[in-house]
Amino acid sequence: MKKENNISRRSALKGLGASVATLVVSPSFAGWKEGKQANFAAPLENPLDKYPKPPYPKQTQPHPGLASKMDPVPDHGEQSYKGSGRLTGRKALVTGGDSGIGRAAAIAFAREGADVAINYLPAEEEDARQVVELLRGEGRKIVAIPGDITDSNFCNQLVKDTVSQLGGLDILVNNAGYQKSNLSILDISDESFDATMKTNVYAPFWITKAALPHLPPGSVIIATSSVQAYDPSENLFDYAQTKAANVAYVKSLAKQLGPKGIRVNGVSPGPVWTPLQVCGGQEPDKLVNFGGDTPMARAGQPVELASIYVQLADSQASFSTGQIYGAAGGGGHP
Ligand code: NAD
Ligand code: MG
Repeated sequence: MKKENNISRRSALKGLGASVATLVVSPSFAGWKEGKQANFAAPLENPLDKYPKPPYPKQTQPHPGLASKMDPVPDHGEQSYKGSGRLTGRKALVTGGDSGIGRAAAIAFAREGADVAINYLPAEEEDARQVVELLRGEGRKIVAIPGDITDSNFCNQLVKDTVSQLGGLDILVNNAGYQKSNLSILDISDESFDATMKTNVYAPFWITKAALPHLPPGSVIIATSSVQAYDPSENLFDYAQTKAANVAYVKSLAKQLGPKGIRVNGVSPGPVWTPLQVCGGQEPDKLVNFGGDTPMARAGQPVELASIYVQLADSQASFSTGQIYGAAGGGGHP
């Protein structure tokens, strides 16, 4: 427990600006050092000004894309996410944990005290290494397991490796996704349609089936859906269907697993600045104004969703199951 406080304090200090450095000697901070509750206010921030706004530089990358090569580089909470022990001792698997929303969830889980396994495609090794390097030395076990989840055998192996390397599993985040923009249904090849379905619908089915025998009561499953489930864009005909399937996955599985003490919830992001969008997920011309039509007038950053994943994983949310939590900058559903 003492170690937890030291870790949190060290990372908190790293992120404190010079203007608030005097807090270090304030009585409230001294109290925290002694193991009491933190008692200083987070600064009031205007969400409109927190992150880069459109127009964004025009850019494309080959699939699956790297966060490190995006301009601007997304904020996954590397410097800013501070934990407070909400998930101490928990064991999490996050698919697509190398970049984007999955990386933000993985960083937050680790900073909240969980051991974390991330899965990603071998082509994303560079992004995955950044996550491992970042979290190394922060006192948690971070395991990187590359592999393609469109292969059911790999999905089984992924769960086996996670359980053996973390010594169990109680937070499963089915977050990996494939999105390819096509202006016409006539442009969607069978192969592309199949890749979308396999990544977004089959893989969560295979991974969940493999994981279930290992999940003790109190475990949680979290799916990343999308506003596309509720208000599909004309260019995301196949992707939107899979995100609606993710909502049904949550609603059905929550009913099935509630009596076993396992909660199942989903997150429904709006436009978030991630590699998925720059490697075929959006038309490059439209990406320049990505998120510009939301009330926040910008794209979200992955870190802005991290606390939602933490909240859903936290045992304090024990009566929340079968829910979809939105984060869409003011537009979208639910
Ligand atoms: P991202 O590119 O950072 O993450 C997607 C990840 O999926 C990749 O990092 C990759 O590791 C993984 N992946 C894809 N195909 C895979 C495969 N065959 N095998 C193994 N891993 C594979 O982008 P993101 O936006 O953070 O995406 C995460 C989730 O968020 C996806 O489910 C996506 O549908 C959803 N989402 C994103 C947005 C957005 O605007 N970015 C909006 C709504 C929903
Ligand atoms: Mg990635």
